[in-house]
Amino acid sequence: MEIVSEKKKSTIKSINPFDNSLNKEFEVFTKEEVNERLDLATDAFRSWKKTSFSERADLLHKVANIFRERKEELAKLASLEMGKKVKEAVAEVELSANIFDYYADKGAEFLADKELETPEGKAFLSYEPLGVLLSVQPWNFPFYQVTRSAAPNIMAGNTMVLKHASIVPQCAAIVEEIFLEAGAPKGVYQNLFLPGASVTDLVSDERVKAVTLTGSEPAGASIAAAAGKNIKKSTLELGGSDPFIVLDDVDVDQVATAAVYGRMWNAGQVCTSAKRIIVHERIADAFLARVKDLMGKLKVGNPLDESTDVAPLSSEKAAEEVVRQVDQAVSDGATLELGGKRVAGTAGAFVEPTLLTHIKKGNSAYSDEIFGPVFMFYVVKDDEEAVALANDTEFGLGGSVFSQDEQRAVAIARQIDTGMVYINHMTGISPELPFGGTKKSGYGREQSPAGIYEFVNPKLIRITSIDKPY
Ligand code: NAP
Repeated sequence: MEIVSEKKKSTIKSINPFDNSLNKEFEVFTKEEVNERLDLATDAFRSWKKTSFSERADLLHKVANIFRERKEELAKLASLEMGKKVKEAVAEVELSANIFDYYADKGAEFLADKELETPEGKAFLSYEPLGVLLSVQPWNFPFYQVTRSAAPNIMAGNTMVLKHASIVPQCAAIVEEIFLEAGAPKGVYQNLFLPGASVTDLVSDERVKAVTLTGSEPAGASIAAAAGKNIKKSTLELGGSDPFIVLDDVDVDQVATAAVYGRMWNAGQVCTSAKRIIVHERIADAFLARVKDLMGKLKVGNPLDESTDVAPLSSEKAAEEVVRQVDQAVSDGATLELGGKRVAGTAGAFVEPTLLTHIKKGNSAYSDEIFGPVFMFYVVKDDEEAVALANDTEFGLGGSVFSQDEQRAVAIARQIDTGMVYINHMTGISPELPFGGTKKSGYGREQSPAGIYEFVNPKLIRITSIDKPY
C-alpha cells in the first residue's frame, strides 16, 4: 500500500486566511501510523457493530452536547483556519449538534427490521453495517461536512476514518478529541492527517469497506474510480452551479436581499450557493439595481468581527483562483458591474464582492463553478427559458424558485435536473431533509432517513416452512 513516506517528512499547515499567518503545523501520518489506525478501526468495528442502538445514540447525544458546550471555541477555530464568519460558524456547530441528535433519536427506527410482503412464509430486511468507512471531506463547512457522514454511519454501527481537508487540521483533530471525550471506544472515530493526493490509495486497502467524498469533481472521479475498481460502495457530493430563479410576481426588494445573502454567505464558498441568479425580464432592471445597491454596501473584514458581511476566502490560492476566473469571464465578454479584484490594503485572502452580467453561453463563467463572492446575473424572457438555462450545466446539485404562485413554481421545480429544489428559499440544510445531487454533482444522499441507508447491507432474511425446503 503506497500511502505516504515511511518517515514524517511533510507537514500540514493551518494558515489564518485573514492575514496569512501560520496558526499551527501538523506532521503527515507515516504509513505505520495509518496502518495502526486502520487496524484499530477494524478491531473497533467488531465490537461496535454488536452494540445496541441505545448505546450508539447515547454516544451521539454526548457528542452533540459537547459541540453545543464548546461551540464558541469550535466556531473560532473554523474562523481562524478557513476564514468563516464567526456567527456563521456558530450556526454551523449548532446544525452539526442537531444532526448528531437527529440520528441518535431516529436511527433505531430507520434501521429496524423491515418486513416484506411475500406470498409464502415471512421475509424481512436486516440493515447491517459494512465496516470501516473512509470519509474524505472539504474545508468549507469543517464541522458540518464531517458530521453528516459521521452521525448516520456511527449510528448504523460502522466505524469511520476521516481524511479532512489539509487546510483545517485543527478542526479535524478536535472532532476526534470530542468523540473520545464523549466516551467513544478507541477506533470508532479517527482522524488521518494525509495529503489529498495519497488518499485514493486507501480505497484499495482491504480494511476500508466503503468511501464517501465531498469535494471537487477531480477528487470525486479519482475516489469513484478506485472504489469501482475495488467493488466498494461510494457516495459523492461534488460541486454545484445552483440556479436561483426569480419569477415576475415577487417582491423585488425581499428576493434581491435573499439572492445577495444566498450568494455571499461563507464568502460564496458553498456548493449550493446561489451561483446563477436567473431573473424574469419584467423585473430584471429593478432587481439588478437593488442587488447592486446591496452589494455595494457589503463590509469586507475580519471573520471574528460580528459586523463583517464578507470574510476572506479560505486561502490565498482560492482568492487568486477566483480573481483569475473573473478576469477570464470578463475577457470572454461578461460585464463587470462591481468588484473583481483583491481587496486593497489587506494582507489576507480577500476578494471584493463581485457582480457579473451579460454572461453568454461559451463564457467560462457560464459553465464553471466559481467558489467565491461572485454574483452572476442572467435575464430570461419566460419560465421555459428559465428552465432551459437552469438545466444548461453539467452540475445538478440544488436550486430555488421564487414566486407567489406555488403551482407555477412547483411546475418549474419538477423540470429542474438537480437533487434538491427549494421554493421561496435558497437551497437549505436541515437534518431531516436529504442532501445530494445528480449529474456531475455526484450521487448518493446525506441527512434524512436516506443518509443512513448508504453504507449498510440491507440483508434479506427469508423464513419458510421446513417441510417445503425446495
Ligand atoms: P477538493 O480539493 O476536492 O478537496 C476535498 C477533499 O478531497 C479534501 O479532503 C482533499 O484533501 C481531498 N482530495 C483532494 N484531491 C484528492 C484526490 N485526488 N483524491 C482524493 N481526495 C482528494 O475540494 P475543494 O476544492 O477543497 O472544495 C470545494 C469543492 O467541494 C467545490 O467544488 C464544492 O462545490 C464542493 N463541495 C460540495 C459539497 C456537496 O455537498 N455537494 C459540499 C461542499 C463542497 P486536501 O485538502 O489534502 O487536498
